[in-house]
Amino acid sequence: MFNLHGLLDCQYMIQQDHTYNDRAHPDLPIYALNWEQRYFFYTPGLIALVENEEFNGLRDAVLKNDPSGLKEEAAGLYLHLIDIASKQKERYLSRRTKEYLPECLTISISNDCNLACDYCYTRSHKGSSVHPVVDLNVVEASAKLVAENCKQLGKPFSVVFHGGGEPTFHWNYFTGLYFLTRRLAGSMKIPFFSYISTNGFISREKAKWLSDHFSLIGVSIDGPPKIQHQNRKTLSGGQTSPLVIDAIKSIANRKTQVEVRSTITSGNMFSQNEIVEYFIKELSVRKIRFEPKYGGSDPEFKETDSDEFAKNFILAQKTASRLGGELQFSGVRLDEIHGVYCDVLRNNLRIGPDGISVNCFFSPLAVKDNITGKFDEVHNRFVLDENNIKNIVKKAFLAPLKCRNCFLEYHCSKGCPDFCWNDSTKMELVGFRCAVHRKIALSTILS
Ligand code: SF4
Ligand code: SF4
Repeated sequence: MFNLHGLLDCQYMIQQDHTYNDRAHPDLPIYALNWEQRYFFYTPGLIALVENEEFNGLRDAVLKNDPSGLKEEAAGLYLHLIDIASKQKERYLSRRTKEYLPECLTISISNDCNLACDYCYTRSHKGSSVHPVVDLNVVEASAKLVAENCKQLGKPFSVVFHGGGEPTFHWNYFTGLYFLTRRLAGSMKIPFFSYISTNGFISREKAKWLSDHFSLIGVSIDGPPKIQHQNRKTLSGGQTSPLVIDAIKSIANRKTQVEVRSTITSGNMFSQNEIVEYFIKELSVRKIRFEPKYGGSDPEFKETDSDEFAKNFILAQKTASRLGGELQFSGVRLDEIHGVYCDVLRNNLRIGPDGISVNCFFSPLAVKDNITGKFDEVHNRFVLDENNIKNIVKKAFLAPLKCRNCFLEYHCSKGCPDFCWNDSTKMELVGFRCAVHRKIALSTILS
């Protein structure tokens, strides 16, 4: 008897060498899994629970691509799996050949910031406003390029203000860029979507302005004041919570959509449940995202931390759901085809303070291999670097070998940003994220 679910139970099989051998079909994303004497087949979007005695026969049929020995019901399941897996594979591969047509413009205005968070990966840019600020002409030209694509594709023009530094640091310049992009969308008669990722250390008036102008606001906050103060301090080491909390409440009161993002470190890993309760009960924020700390010279977490991290995350996720909220983990997304965060795979054009566009949020200043375009002053237009883009797409699809037989192959960020195709020396950093992703995915599937 088969039990079909959209997504259901499974457990991974791990080999001695820490690679996974979930894969059942040689070419298609069909995986055979077991968990505590329960047997499953998984393909993205479908879990099929089967009886123990049917498992081996079906797995053989899938492996040999030959259902002739199966009974009627098993043969039906076989065809269903093949059908769904073939479509998913097609979707997955189309990302590799799809033309890069940026539909979203992400602007990193400068690396200036009014905070001194301990884990900031742009710490070398700490301090007052002495760093480059993105040129107005670059923003205008890149916005035109993106808006024209959006018009052609019949999509809204999306603009994101993001770090490096704090996007609101140069307030007047920032609001000017906001209006520039919005006017452009208006002149082209396309809908306008705007998102800002802020540290929330802003006055109530500025918070209200953001609420009145942005479609969605993301605030980085680690939790209640004692947790926030562990890592997120002012430049002089002072408390940030009072202002950040006030800003979040002002935004939430005006019914603007707000989400919060917390960095999970070894210091607050065991407080994940408390953090979620605080956000939902005290701040009325229901959309929460946790991200393990990355970017330091030494890795924050080792693979051996994955059990505790995942256990605490899963508990917090259940609490969020019980309180009417939602806790997400960016690295693994069962409901979509998901991989490394490279912008060229996500149709995002990311321009940095130096006026060059890059493929990666993690290196806001241009690194040669990751450059995707630059401003052509003579012709006043933004020009994409087609060769680099082609190379990045090719390399970004080269997942670590261990991913090729893993049931999360289509759902996982594969160690990014700790591990990157651009720096294979950091292979060992995949371990922690990998183990956490699998545990979180299994729990989600089981719930
Ligand atoms: S860290 Fe590497 S894989 Fe991840 S987004 Fe950046 S360039 Fe892409
Ligand atoms: S990094 Fe992700 S896709 Fe790769 S083996 Fe680990 S869980 Fe699977």
